[in-house]
Amino acid sequence: METFDIIIIGAGPAGLGMARNLADTPLKIAVLERLPESELANPPEDGRDIALTHTSEEIMDDLGMWAHIPEDQVGVIRDAKVVNGHSDYALHFESRRSGKDYLGRIVPNHLIRKASYLQVKDLSNVTLITEAPVVEVRTGQVKLADGRELSASLVVAADSRFSENRRKMGISASMTDFGRVVIVCEMAHELPHNDIATECFHYDQTLAILPMHGDLSSVVVTLPSDKADAAMEMTELAFAADIQQRFGNELGKMELVSKRVAYPLVGVFANRFVTERFALVGDAAVGMHPVTAHGYNLGLTGGAILANEIKEALARGEDFASATVLHRYERAHRKVARPLYLGTNALVKLYTDTRLPAKMLRRAALRLGNILPPVKSRIVQQLTQVDMRT
Ligand SMILES: Cc1cc2nc3c(=O)[nH]c(=O)nc-3n(C[C@H](O)[C@H](O)[C@H](O)COP(=O)(O)OP(=O)(O)OC[C@H]3O[C@@H](n4cnc5c(N)ncnc54)[C@H](O)[C@@H]3O)c2cc1C
Repeated sequence: METFDIIIIGAGPAGLGMARNLADTPLKIAVLERLPESELANPPEDGRDIALTHTSEEIMDDLGMWAHIPEDQVGVIRDAKVVNGHSDYALHFESRRSGKDYLGRIVPNHLIRKASYLQVKDLSNVTLITEAPVVEVRTGQVKLADGRELSASLVVAADSRFSENRRKMGISASMTDFGRVVIVCEMAHELPHNDIATECFHYDQTLAILPMHGDLSSVVVTLPSDKADAAMEMTELAFAADIQQRFGNELGKMELVSKRVAYPLVGVFANRFVTERFALVGDAAVGMHPVTAHGYNLGLTGGAILANEIKEALARGEDFASATVLHRYERAHRKVARPLYLGTNALVKLYTDTRLPAKMLRRAALRLGNILPPVKSRIVQQLTQVDMRT
């Protein structure tokens, strides 16, 4: 049986980020991934464009990942506004309230995945084992589909929100099926977006338009599951015309420039993030509804928190996978993740509820948000995630 200090299951952005965070330690790490290495090296476009907080941008820069993202592919979100139904009233979030001159950056997910891979593939203390689905997991041990067995002091599962290894280790999770599907794509448009992100909450569907590089936007449409097939089957021209019209022609003529990708919306929150010599990171710990754009951001900061606790334990000469160390990670990450998860779910509920009291409440919420500066500052701080690692 081959022995490592840490086994990470899943070479998605969270698993690779975690491995990269531990590059400057003497720990021997294995990252196990069921996909082939060619797919990690050149991940296909998946329609997701990831809005990054200031904290994530800093971590990516510290880890050397930012240098692998082509500058001309990075969009800037300077301001954001939230529009309710067909009302002209909007809640505005200006970047100056965050103390920076922008709220966040936006980068296609496949470029983040590629940058994560490039920063890990040549690390001397990390062994990347691909085409290696984990089929069994126990405390300190995993078994691969080809029969190989590996052992480690700590196993970290970063194997997606539907993590099988979480379940196999006896950790339950609360799941919310929103009964909705999100369709994502990129669209070019005639008029400039001026780096403003817009979230329009219509009564049967939500439309987010996020400013990318140039005259390009990331379009995120959330709609009831029974209407998703029809939207996916629309011709490109009809789909583009529909989005253009729903957005009130604010960006002039719009054109679809990527494929459309549909994701069912299920939020997941693991009831524990750790158990004996085992920890969850990324979506395996917290799988967010994408409306508040926090999934990757949380996965990256969570991985950084866990890596930091491990490094501090090593510096003190202690067992880096002890219950004390793992619980410190759980406490710190939960403190940040739980309010974001619950807040996001409450927001989704409020803005998809078509009953009259909810409609009135959302109108009031927008106005209150604009009128009360402390409310707005708090929201901007959450959006930009200025101090998430503390
Ligand atoms: C439409 C959409 C928009 C989004 N927008 C944003 C945004 O703007 N901002 C933001 O921060 N986040 C956003 N997110 C969330 C973000 O994409 C996810 O949080 C992030 O990709 C999760 O990364 P992960 O590494 O935890 O999981 P994944 O990317 O799911 O990776 C898991 C990996 O584990 C591997 N694996 C699974 N099981 C096994 C096994 N048994 N053995 C070996 N390998 C295994 C899989 O092959 C995969 O490579 C969005 C998500 C969606 C769907």
